[in-house]
Amino acid sequence: TRQWRLESRPVGEPTHENFELVTVDRPDPGPNEVLVETLYQSVDPYMRGRMRDAESYAEPWDVGDPMKAGVVGEVLESNADAFEAGDVVTGELNWAEHAVADAGELRRVNPDHGPISTALGVLGMPGVTAYWGLNDVGNPKPGDTVVVSAAAGAVGSVVGQLARLGGARVVGTAGSEEKIDWLTDDLGFDAAINYKETDDLSAAIDDACPDGVDVYFDNVGGPITDAVWPRLNVDARIAICGQIALYNATEVPTGPRKLAKLIESRAKVEGFLVSDYEHRWGEALERLSTFIRNDDLRYRENIVDGFENAPDAFLGLFEGENAGKQLVKVGEY
Ligand code: NDP
Repeated sequence: TRQWRLESRPVGEPTHENFELVTVDRPDPGPNEVLVETLYQSVDPYMRGRMRDAESYAEPWDVGDPMKAGVVGEVLESNADAFEAGDVVTGELNWAEHAVADAGELRRVNPDHGPISTALGVLGMPGVTAYWGLNDVGNPKPGDTVVVSAAAGAVGSVVGQLARLGGARVVGTAGSEEKIDWLTDDLGFDAAINYKETDDLSAAIDDACPDGVDVYFDNVGGPITDAVWPRLNVDARIAICGQIALYNATEVPTGPRKLAKLIESRAKVEGFLVSDYEHRWGEALERLSTFIRNDDLRYRENIVDGFENAPDAFLGLFEGENAGKQLVKVGEY
C-alpha cells in the first residue's frame, strides 16, 4: 500500500519536491483499532501550516512521516465493537491508501444521507466552519451586506449561501470568471468580483457594496482584505477564518494599517477555529443537510482522480484550481 510522506519543508510556495510517495506493508489493526481503505482524501489550505516547523494551532508534521488528512474510507477489518467491515467512516488518517485508526477517532458516515464525499466538504469540516464562523462570529442580520473572500471555495461558497438565506446582501471575491458566474447565476450571490481581473479592488468593493460592509468573512487576507477594510460600517464584524494569500509568504506581511477605521466603525475583528465548535458539530450538520435537501444550499466538489495525484490537488488550492471542495478520489465505493 502507498503513503505520501513529507520529504522536505517548503520555503515559499510548496512544490512536488516536498512530497515523497512510498510503498509500505499494509498495517494490521491492534486492539480496538480499525483498518480503513481510503475512498476520498481531503486536501486543505491549513496543511501548508503543518508543513512548516513553527508553532501553530495544528502541530507541524515531521519530515519523513506520513502526512495527515481528512479521509472517508471503508472499514476492511475491525477489532472494535463500534465498527464492522463494510462500514463507511471518516476521520483524520494518513495520506495513505490504507491506515489504521483507533475506533474513538472515527465517525460513521451514513451513505443514505447523500454522497459519502460530502463528509469532507459541505457536510464536514468546511461546512461546519462556514456555519459557525458566519452565525456565531459574523452574526449577520437581515439586510446586512456580507462580503466573503475565496467565495467559490469549500468554506466561502457555503458562507455566502447561508448569509443569503438569512436575508443579507452577499458579495463574494474569487479568481476566475467561471467561478464568478457560478456565484451569481447559481448560488444567488448579489455580486461577485474577480480579483485577478480587477485593477482597482477598492472601487470594485465600493460598487458592489453601496451601503458599506457589515460582515466580512475573511478567508484570504492580503490585498482583498485591504480593499474591504475602509468600507466597514459602524459595528461591523470581521470573522478571520483564513489568510491563504499569506500562507506562502517568506517575510512577515504588513497588516491592515488603517486601524483608525476600527475606532470610527467600532468594528470587531475576531479569529475563530472550527475545532472550538466540536460540541456543536451535529447541530450545524443537521441544518446544512436540511438546506441541501430543500435545494437552498448547493455545493461543488473538484475531484482529482488517483492517490498518486494528491500533491497536485493540494498545490492547486494555491492556484485557485478548485471550485468548491477539493478532494482526491482514491478508491471505488
Ligand atoms: P478553498 O476551497 O477556499 O480553497 C482555497 C481557495 O483560496 C482557492 O480556490 C483560491 O480561490 C483562493 N486563493 C488561493 N490563493 C489565494 C491568494 N493568494 N489570494 C486570494 N485567494 C487565494 O479552501 P477552504 O474553503 O478549505 O478554506 C478557505 C480558508 O479558510 C483557508 O484560508 C483556510 O485556511 C481557512 N479555514 C479555516 C478554518 C478555521 O477553523 N479557522 C477551518 C477551515 C478552513 P480563488 O479562485 O478565489 O483565488
